[in-house]
Amino acid sequence: MTLPVADNWFEARKIDADTTLIIEPHIHVLEQANMFLVEGSERDMILDTGMGVIPFRPYLDSLRQDPEKEIICVSSHTHIDHIGAVHEFEIRLVHPAEADEMANPSGLTSLFRRDMPKALLQTFLDAGYPPIGETLIEALPFEGYDPETYRLQGAPATGLLNHGDTFDLGNHVYEVLHLPGHSPGEIGLFEHETGILFSADAIYDGPLIYEGPGMSVDAYRKTFNLLKSLPVMTVHGGHDPSFDSARMLEIIAHYEALWAAA
Ligand SMILES: [Zn+2]
Ligand SMILES: [Zn+2]
Repeated sequence: MTLPVADNWFEARKIDADTTLIIEPHIHVLEQANMFLVEGSERDMILDTGMGVIPFRPYLDSLRQDPEKEIICVSSHTHIDHIGAVHEFEIRLVHPAEADEMANPSGLTSLFRRDMPKALLQTFLDAGYPPIGETLIEALPFEGYDPETYRLQGAPATGLLNHGDTFDLGNHVYEVLHLPGHSPGEIGLFEHETGILFSADAIYDGPLIYEGPGMSVDAYRKTFNLLKSLPVMTVHGGHDPSFDSARMLEIIAHYEALWAAA
């Protein structure tokens, strides 16, 4: 296998005054998750930490106005594309339903397609994702990198986030929403003051994944009912570009119709 060597492993873009979107552009689109850094007046937050192919913290700290400030690491759920670098943070929060999985990842922990369950690969193709090559990385982070050395590490939670909990960064206050369906302990963060919803993999503007280990269409229906009841203005999803409430309702209606017809 010969892969090109990436110039930059991470890519960052400021999306509002305090929020920076970070991606790993050389990961296959299926596992190319959005990470959101929010810099608060009292403390910062990183929502999800990518694949953990190379250390994330030095890059993240280079983006922060004050790298000495406390930073809270929130894991929206524990799929490989969201907790890769969780072990690099001192404060690690997750929903109780996925705390064990974050401490000891038991799902996909390698970069190789051969380690992915066949049924899951078919689910991804059916959902509309392009086929995956031999590995989930499409470039090497540096010359001589050996993808065989990769293992998803995980880390025990230092605190838990339940539905209805709130936490703040000083000038930003988030309510925790339990949004199961894609995964049992999937959470979103809702900022009432701005109507901003960080929805992670509960809803994004691309093929949603609802059939697989830990997934449930019944739970997903309830999650969508909850989302429809919220005064959402902007949705920052776990994958793909952000969207507004009209698009959110369109996406929800699409899946509700699909599931009703099944
Ligand atoms: Zn994801
Ligand atoms: Zn996921």
